[in-house]
Amino acid sequence: MNDWPALDHFLRTDPRDVGCDQAMEMLHVYAELVAAGGPAEQRYPGIAAHLRACGPCERGLRGTAGRGARRGGLTGTCSVRRPH
Ligand SMILES: [Zn+2]
Repeated sequence: MNDWPALDHFLRTDPRDVGCDQAMEMLHVYAELVAAGGPAEQRYPGIAAHLRACGPCERGLRGTAGRGARRGGLTGTCSVRRPH
């Protein structure tokens, strides 16, 4: 078996982290709030925590915000998965 960098990452994840699925779902809303200069981090602390922990989602946010919050424009694969 390999070692488990993903599990290691998971164990260091912020407990407020909502996980990839919810972050992806809310990313365009979050990106719009960021783009509008709103208090995105205070409003969605779970997503902010996830974006700090998950590089692909964070890049997705920047890509989404950079393209004017275009929906469905995420690229890359999330590396943080949490059980439901
Ligand atoms: Zn993610």
